Amino acid sequence: MAEQKQTNKAKQTNKGKQNPNSKKKFSIYWIYVVLFAAIVFLWTSGTKDGKSNVSREVNWEKLQKVINNKDFSQIKVINKEYAEIFIKQEAISRGDTMYNDIFKNDGGIFSSDKLSLDKLNASYVYKFVDYQDFREQLQTIENQWNVQDTLGKDLTELQKQQIIAQNRINPTMEKRGGFWSENSGFLISTLFLIVMWIVIFRMMNRGSAMGGGIGGIFSVGKSKAKLYDKDKNTNVTFADVAGLEEAKVEVMEIVDFLKNPDRYTKLGGKIPKGALLVGPPGTGKTLLAKAVAGEAKVPFFSLSGSDFTEMFVGVGASRVRDLFNNAKAKAPCIIFIDEIDAIGRARGKNIVGGANDERENTLNQLLTEMDGFGSNAGVIMLAATNRADILDKALLRAGRFDRQIYVELPELKEREAIFKVHMKNLKFDESEVNTAFLAKQTPGFSGADIANICNESALIAARRGKQVIGKQDFLDAVDRIVGGLEKKSKIISPKEKERIAYHEAGHASVSWLLEYANPLLKVTIVPRGMALGAAWYIPEERQITTKQQMLDQIISLLGGRASEYITFGDVSTGALNDLERATQMATAMVKYYGLDDKIGNRSYYDSTGQSEYSFQRPFSEKTAEIIDERVHELLEDAYKKACEILTENKDKLKLLAELLRDKEVIFREDVENIFGPRQWEDNIEGIKPKEENNNNETSNAEVKENK
Ligand code: ATP
Repeated sequence: MAEQKQTNKAKQTNKGKQNPNSKKKFSIYWIYVVLFAAIVFLWTSGTKDGKSNVSREVNWEKLQKVINNKDFSQIKVINKEYAEIFIKQEAISRGDTMYNDIFKNDGGIFSSDKLSLDKLNASYVYKFVDYQDFREQLQTIENQWNVQDTLGKDLTELQKQQIIAQNRINPTMEKRGGFWSENSGFLISTLFLIVMWIVIFRMMNRGSAMGGGIGGIFSVGKSKAKLYDKDKNTNVTFADVAGLEEAKVEVMEIVDFLKNPDRYTKLGGKIPKGALLVGPPGTGKTLLAKAVAGEAKVPFFSLSGSDFTEMFVGVGASRVRDLFNNAKAKAPCIIFIDEIDAIGRARGKNIVGGANDERENTLNQLLTEMDGFGSNAGVIMLAATNRADILDKALLRAGRFDRQIYVELPELKEREAIFKVHMKNLKFDESEVNTAFLAKQTPGFSGADIANICNESALIAARRGKQVIGKQDFLDAVDRIVGGLEKKSKIISPKEKERIAYHEAGHASVSWLLEYANPLLKVTIVPRGMALGAAWYIPEERQITTKQQMLDQIISLLGGRASEYITFGDVSTGALNDLERATQMATAMVKYYGLDDKIGNRSYYDSTGQSEYSFQRPFSEKTAEIIDERVHELLEDAYKKACEILTENKDKLKLLAELLRDKEVIFREDVENIFGPRQWEDNIEGIKPKEENNNNETSNAEVKENK
């Protein structure tokens, strides 16, 4: 490790300067150059038939002798520029000194004990000035031979012709390109292969240095963590994280542990090893970690739980080791693992897939690294998850993630602060847009939802051709995010429209007349997203829910179907979403929350998440039947109650439904005009509905869909 540190330091100090040692280093690329040269040499020195070429230039006098001796086997005329004259084996074997310039036992161009033409192409090269002249010279020799062979002999014409044919020197004509044009194909393809080889090799090296790229296959065991340090920093600071004050204090303390460890250790305390950020999606856990990276001024390794997994076995564990090795080299530093549940799920066997060995190995390695024999001084782990309940208990114990920091959905004041952060860069109408008002309109929204509203409002205002974003743009953005895009063009027949109006009016009426139903804000039958109509509520921000509150909510969920039944005498498919939610709530009441008298104070909730993979139920067949029965009874009772309420108020329901059918959107005060003031005061955080709803503002956090 010390070695690695030193190399790092050396790299930093020599940045921009040339390393004096670098000259001495042997470059591996020289091997390629030598290889290439060798290939070219072999290629040029050999021929296609595997023999070596040996040639000597010759003048006409000597060539004349060779030809006259008939020592040549072949004459080739190349490109009508020169001739190659090949010598017979017998001529060499004869030991004629004339040929010593090519063949010589004591060191000619070609020297061997066994002189053999099998091994070489030995030739003379004669460069003539003019091909025709050369041809004529050969012709003259041929004629001389003919005269010698026929003079004074009584030969028939046929015999004469045979002698002439025998004496004919038939040079073969050959066309040859130059060396480059002949060999360019081979050279280019060889060069191309070498270049490709070098490029791939370099990419592999770079890939392995970065833990990815084409070298991924070779660097698969390397950690994929992104490193933020003083050279590469995130520009997120704690000022960008609105609210979350308690969480901020905790993470700031972690930064302080790293910077001033003595302050804590001198009293005998130990520095915590890790902190887990737990909370619902979009509440700013990752943002908080980014702010730590921005503020801590210590190296910060950031990666996601899924970065450990790969298709290869053993990679996860190897990446964990590599991550900790890198981190220890950079200590003091912080490691941040987002979505740690991807690897941190509780270990155990399940019948469906067996144990997930690879993930468990990764987790085991993580546990070992966090609390193993090796010293991790100066490395603090931060992790984020939505599901701390399914994490392995060993991961959560003190000594690993000593601290759990809960990041909750923002409260009214926090929402206001988040709006302020995200509206900093927006051009909005300051006279009408008020962050406090917007915060009141968005209970149950996460920081990510609020960031989305701000962005969406700017897009809506731009679509409307406005110069600044108005209040209505914000409110429309809220509606859009909750319910989806308005689909005014959807074709709905008048009969369907009437049924939808009655369905939604049913929800509104029942919830108006029940004490614990969520406070209503508006009802609409304009199709939006997947829904054909919706009743919009503001859910009360409460920490616990009573049995009666749950029952009232189920009753108002079934109000839509009840209204259809009472009015039309039959029911439709439009209640699918209502039924699904009502069933889920009733099942949760019976199975998990112990809110049913017959099942009693029992809960079959499995916080480890293992039961999701299990074929076995934690209860008997008999209990399963009772659960089914009780869920059914609860829902039927709720439906009966909804029918009762609506039958008692059938006239008012009719008025409300007709008003809704005609106006398409009705507000809280319209319901109040028909049903009279609500008996119970709505406990809505920060809203005084009677005053504020007059200006037709919409607000919501929960949509009842009517598909
Ligand atoms: P998940 O669990 O789904 O990963 P998360 O809790 O990590 O979600 P972030 O990714 O941190 O959520 O937040 C998403 C976005 O929401 C941020 O980029 C930011 O724009 C906005 N946001 C969330 N909380 C806050 C906050 N407290 N202040 C300012 N912006 C916030």
